[in-house]
Amino acid sequence: MERKLTCIICPRGCSLTVAGETDSLTVTGHACPRGETYAINECTNPVRTITSIVRVENREDTMVSVKTAQPVPKDKIFEIMGMIRSTAVAAPVKIGDVIIDNIYGTQVIATKNID
Ligand code: SF4
Repeated sequence: MERKLTCIICPRGCSLTVAGETDSLTVTGHACPRGETYAINECTNPVRTITSIVRVENREDTMVSVKTAQPVPKDKIFEIMGMIRSTAVAAPVKIGDVIIDNIYGTQVIATKNID
């Protein structure tokens, strides 16, 4: 297997090549060790932090920004986005409040205060 990736860890955006099989991958093109870790994780267990918004039911035309507290499996993003879309919260909301609990080992938390 050979796969080309662009490292998204920092703005330099190194072009990475991953070769080999799952248990013995080799990475080239990385300018630092973080790129190698990113490439191996991307090929074995890709994860992403989701950012989105949730409706505030007791404030007209108001949304609160949210994110997953930890990265979640990339193949669960659409499922989790569906859960976020069907969720509403009541103000007041504080940064760090748990909006959805126990979701693939993490939580969806507020990233904005709504008084
Ligand atoms: S490999 Fe290192 S230097 Fe290159 S984009 Fe990734 S984090 Fe940045």
